[in-house]
Amino acid sequence: MAKYIFKPTAISQLSNNYDVVIIGSGATGLVSAIQAYELGLKPVIIEKMDTLGGNTNRASSGMNAAETSVQLKNHIVDSYEDFYNDTFIGGGKTNDPDLLKYFTTHAALSIDWLADHGIKLDSLTITGGMKTRRTHRPDSMAPIGNFLITSFLKIIEQYKIPVFNNTKVSRLLSNDNVIQGVELKLPDASTKVVNTKSIILATGGFGANKELIKKYRNDLTNYRTTNQDGATGDGLGLAQQAGASLVDMQQIQVHPTVYQETSHTYLIGEAVRGEGAILVNQMGQRFVNELDTRQKVTDAINNFAQGSAYLIFDSNVRKKVPAIEFYDMIGAVVHGSDLEELADNINVDSKILADTVSKWNHSVSSKTDALFNRSTGMNTLLNASPYYAIHIAPAVHYTMGGVKINHKAQVLNEKDDVIKGLFAGGEVTGGLHGNNRIGGNSIAETIVFGRQAGQQAFKYLSD
Ligand SMILES: Cc1cc2nc3c(=O)[nH]c(=O)nc-3n(C[C@H](O)[C@H](O)[C@H](O)COP(=O)(O)OP(=O)(O)OC[C@H]3O[C@@H](n4cnc5c(N)ncnc54)[C@H](O)[C@@H]3O)c2cc1C
Repeated sequence: MAKYIFKPTAISQLSNNYDVVIIGSGATGLVSAIQAYELGLKPVIIEKMDTLGGNTNRASSGMNAAETSVQLKNHIVDSYEDFYNDTFIGGGKTNDPDLLKYFTTHAALSIDWLADHGIKLDSLTITGGMKTRRTHRPDSMAPIGNFLITSFLKIIEQYKIPVFNNTKVSRLLSNDNVIQGVELKLPDASTKVVNTKSIILATGGFGANKELIKKYRNDLTNYRTTNQDGATGDGLGLAQQAGASLVDMQQIQVHPTVYQETSHTYLIGEAVRGEGAILVNQMGQRFVNELDTRQKVTDAINNFAQGSAYLIFDSNVRKKVPAIEFYDMIGAVVHGSDLEELADNINVDSKILADTVSKWNHSVSSKTDALFNRSTGMNTLLNASPYYAIHIAPAVHYTMGGVKINHKAQVLNEKDDVIKGLFAGGEVTGGLHGNNRIGGNSIAETIVFGRQAGQQAFKYLSD
């Protein structure tokens, strides 16, 4: 099938006034625009990069939600409460309870909302830190991020919502805690003011901003990142100018399984472990519950002098994770016709690796991991040749901190008062994930809070 290409709007068509200005074209921005438009508003989307879709475009594994009809079709009886508790425990019990409650009780509605728009996430997997299969993805198992962005852009095109790329929001204009407009830097470097009573900040995180990483987490300065170049945290400064408060800025997530042997980094999605892969050290031994939280898996890898490890899997796992075809295409996957050849190819003792895999298969069969207590991603025996390995190391991945909001996606100032007309959602905000984000919760957050921001902007403008 021909690749869908979306044409951004010509800058000559930029108006002086919009009901709502949405900053950022990731999932949060596009969803809030669709929601606002469907409620009768006239939104505009402003994106500073040439390419639309932000970090969302890179998301690979899926979207978490509990109590969905997709889960029931798969005989999984889940609950909002379990979803809340898994996320709360994963976040070191430091998550904002107001945001978490809204999030866990609205993710299933977001799966339905997507389905109502013809966007079906009918297949399930699991990510680290979750106790059940609640990570939704397309039946084709295509990487979720690009699947969502392409689907949203088709709707945006149908609704004729203007999207300006290569256009940066350089200032929010407000007076006495009330939003008045934005200042834009246009593609020709000139500036222009656009009047609006309502702004949705959907600018994403700051994983690609070395200066901010250094400011908040000096220990991570030398890490590489999985993020796109535009993930520079502009939204934080923009919101602060309007008086917004920031929370949890030191909480930066490092992803444990990132392939880094090329100039570009490639995140090896959690679905690979979720479908049965194990991690081994240079000795060929397992060393951690592979599906523990990202923090714990990262800490375990960093205990080794070389700071890296190998994901090991077989043809059964490969069949279940189509993204592995892409990892292979970029040269990340080492092959072995049997375990011995694989061990040789990654310089690991073959007897130890064979013993590790044999013990692991015993754990899968008995559903008991006596070594590390892993209890999920244990449905697949690693016994089908050829076998595969990917060399991975941790990299900066997600910024949990950001602009302070309440569950209505309203941005709060230092006194916890609402800044009138300013809404935010997605990775630019802080508080939902506590000190560790669970994989699959961020895409869910973009849809839940993208919708909420669109709805609340409508309510604000109608009151
Ligand atoms: C490799 C990778 C894999 C991931 N996989 C998953 C997954 O499987 N499941 C999951 O839940 N999460 C995943 N995540 C996290 C998730 O994709 C992101 O947190 C989420 O998509 C962020 O969405 P967003 O809409 O908040 O921001 P983004 O999608 O990053 O969009 C923000 C946009 O705002 C633009 N922008 C910034 N500043 C300005 C400005 N001043 N003016 C105009 N535009 C601006 C940016 O250029 C960007 O396009 C992954 C992340 C990465 C990097």
